[in-house]
Formats: sequence, C-alpha cells, structure tokens
Amino acid sequence: MDVIVIGGGIAGVATAYQLRAAGHRVCVVERHATVAQGATYGHGGTVLPTPLDVWFGPTFMASRQNARNGVISKTGFTGPARQFVKQLAALQDPEAFSRQYGRLRPLIELSREAMADVEARFGLEFEQTSGLLYLVRSAQEWEQTQPALDLLRLNEVPHHVLTPAECSAFEHSVRAEPEFAGGVLFDQERTANSPLFAKLIKQTLDTQGGVQFMLGCEVSAIRLEGQRASVELAPRPGASSRSREVDVIHADAVVVAAGHGSLALLDPLGLRLPLHPLRLHTLVAPIAHEECAPHVAIVDAVKRIAISRMNHRLRIAGGAVLQSAAQIDKPLGKALTKEALALLGQATHDWIPGAARISAALPWEGVKLLSPDGLPVIGNALHPRLFVNVGHGPAGWGLACGAGKLIADLMSGQTPDVPADTLAALRADRF
Ligand SMILES: Cc1cc2nc3c(=O)[nH]c(=O)nc-3n(C[C@H](O)[C@H](O)[C@H](O)COP(=O)(O)OP(=O)(O)OC[C@H]3O[C@@H](n4cnc5c(N)ncnc54)[C@H](O)[C@@H]3O)c2cc1C
Repeated sequence: MDVIVIGGGIAGVATAYQLRAAGHRVCVVERHATVAQGATYGHGGTVLPTPLDVWFGPTFMASRQNARNGVISKTGFTGPARQFVKQLAALQDPEAFSRQYGRLRPLIELSREAMADVEARFGLEFEQTSGLLYLVRSAQEWEQTQPALDLLRLNEVPHHVLTPAECSAFEHSVRAEPEFAGGVLFDQERTANSPLFAKLIKQTLDTQGGVQFMLGCEVSAIRLEGQRASVELAPRPGASSRSREVDVIHADAVVVAAGHGSLALLDPLGLRLPLHPLRLHTLVAPIAHEECAPHVAIVDAVKRIAISRMNHRLRIAGGAVLQSAAQIDKPLGKALTKEALALLGQATHDWIPGAARISAALPWEGVKLLSPDGLPVIGNALHPRLFVNVGHGPAGWGLACGAGKLIADLMSGQTPDVPADTLAALRADRF
C-alpha cells in the first residue's frame, strides 16, 4: 500500500520504518525542516517505562501540592482539565493501576523486541546507557510506591530495592543525608537519545529507499473517500498567490502521528480524542563537579523528574504544567516557567548536590499528549484507511518502535503480537 505518515517525530519515523519493513511505500510529511523537532527533541532519556514511570497510579499527583507532585496544576476548579485530572485520579487505586499497567505491558515488551531488532540490524549507536536509580523521599510516598514494586515482582522485571545507605553506596553522588525513604535500581533498563535515534532511522530509510520524507510541509486537512485517503498541504509561507491552490497527496492509508498537532487534524473528521496537552520542561546543565556527577540516571520517582548524563552535561526533564487545552498554544509566562524550572533545579540539588551548574543550564519546553486512562491511542480509527498513533504521554520514546510495529501489523492484515485486551485498551473508540 501507499501510506502517508503525518509527523516526523519518533512515533512517525518509527511507524514509517515498520511500514517499510512490512513492504509498504511510505511518505512522511513533517512541517519542520527536519525530523525530531517536537516533543521527541526534549525527551528525558528514559527508554522503556517501568510501573514507576507511567503517569497514572498511586504516586501520580497524589498530593495537592505542586511542589510535592512535580506537576504544576493550573486547571481551575471546573472545566475539562479538572475533569481530566479526576479521571486520572481514579487510577490511583492500586487495583485499577495494576489492571491498567497490565494492559500496557505487552506493548512495552513488543517495543523492547522491536527496538532490539532495529539495533541489531543496523548497529545503531544512540547514546544507550544502562542503569536507572529511582529515589523516593518520604515514608508515605514509599508506601504509595508499593503497588508499583508489587508489579515489578509480579512481572519479574529485574530490579533491586535499596535502602538509602545502599543507594549512596551504589551511586556516590546520592547522599544518604538528609534522610529519604529508599530507592529502586534497574541495572538493565536504559536511557538513550531519542532525537538521535529518530535521525539515524531516517538515515537508514534514506539509504534503503521506499520512504520519502516531505520536510517543511504542513498537512492542513485529511480527506477520507471510499477506499482512498489523502492529505491537503498548507501553502508554504511565501508561496505566490498563483501557487496557492491546495496541494493534495493521495494514498491508500494515512497514519496520524503528529503529536500535539494530531488533535487539530482529527477533530474536523469527527474524531474527538479526550487527550490532554501537557507542557514539560528540560534543563541541560553543564556538570559542575565531576566527583558529584552520577554514573547512572537518577529519577525522582514521585515527581517524575529524570536526570540523565550526556557526556559533560546533565539532562533534567520533567516540571509538567497542566492547564486548560485552550492555553497550550499561548506562551506560559515568566512566573510559571520559573516555577517549573525551579522544580527541576530543586530535584537536582536535593538528590545530587554539586553535580550540575543549574545557573548555566539551557531551558527547553515541549508539549506531550496524555490520555485520561494513561494509555496511548494506537490503531485504526473512524474509517478503514485512517490510523492513529498518538497520546503516548511520558513514554513515547520507548513505545515508538512497538507502536509502529502494531500499526504496520494492523495495516498489513497481520495479527499483532499483543493480547486482545491490550489492543482493545489502545483503540480510539474506547473512550
Ligand atoms: C520534556 C519531555 C521529556 C520526556 N521524556 C521522555 C522519556 O524520558 N521517555 C519517553 O519514552 N518519553 C518521554 N517524553 C515523551 C516523548 O518525548 C513523546 O511521547 C514522544 O516524543 C512523542 O513523539 P511523537 O512523534 O508522537 O510527537 P512529536 O515528537 O511532537 O512529533 C510530532 C511531529 O508532528 C509534526 N506535526 C504536527 N502537526 C503537523 C502537521 N499538521 N503537518 C505536518 N507535521 C506536523 C510536528 O512538527 C512534530 O515534528 C518526554 C516528553 C517531553 C516533552
């Protein structure tokens, strides 16, 4: 089939790769001049999500205080954003959390296999580093972490539960004082560079052929007609009025993998996904004192702030701001930006004092889409020729290869290698 993939982030590029591998001809349309310029650019590094990473469950937004949650909530008292938070809060119940993570897990394992296959085939180097140490502050938060630890044991995920002293002994940059509750070490899980991976996959596809990248082109609308699907391209800025006729590309199927831009493309078709945009921040800071810098990635487990090392810098990611969807295209404003970046700086100072020169850090902000049940939307939707691959929340980097494989299998009429309840839990019509 001829397939158009809208979006050149990690989701779109990984989908294009899997579609090409399944024998389809693919055209990726990306509005930026190159791939990986959206949320993919600002990734925190963590590859596959453990039960401690997902943005639902007993520890997610469990406190009413922004500073304790790591999420600055500006939803107001009513309205859809507030409603969204309430829906996610239902998954704080340990049983609901376990059930939902259970549905996600086969996709995580599919992604692990699909990524390993790509790595082995092409010998890609994208700053893969093993070792993540998740740290928990208070006894109450440690208690709330237990359902996640139960899931790790149940699913036989290799990990070590450590006392504060053991955390410090393993990772000297973490001080045992002031007191904290404990840590969980994953010595086999990895951090890696998501935009670099996306670019390497693009290079591979450029060499192999079969995938065309239309860069600097914005899709303005999707058309679904009988057995065909097409996309309309917005006129390029500066194009003469004569050339302002609508350019249309026709295909057999369209995959919407346009991150935050997906909603504006799907809404006019009548597909209103209840995904909520969340602003996230990163700081890339020079190492201040080498002897204080960690050799594994450090994650503030409750605040979902990840600190990973990239050569002589630390990448600190998190600091989410939750507002109404209407505000997401407006600038955040100095005060809220400062508050969000302060969360990142404080977490770094708390866990690995002296490691980073925060005053010299470069800030970045991006938007990711989160779903009210914590799971992405992957699969066919609304019309036999329309597919979506969106809403991966905090895990779009790690899930990209598996999500792309799922789309390719579904489009090729193959049965995906995940249980039926996982497929159903990812469908667009589940809401
Ligand atoms: C600060 C931060 C830290 C994160 N940390 C992690 C992490 O540690 N691990 C993890 O797994 N995930 C992490 N994530 C989430 C992950 O980065 C995202 O889930 C993932 O990058 C989403 O990829 P995507 O391709 O769907 O979206 P994007 O990367 O946003 O790509 C979408 C692309 O579509 C293009 N587009 C949009 N509309 C149109 C249009 N109309 N026409 C043409 N092109 C269009 C955009 O230009 C963009 O390039 C993090 C996200 C952020 C913001």
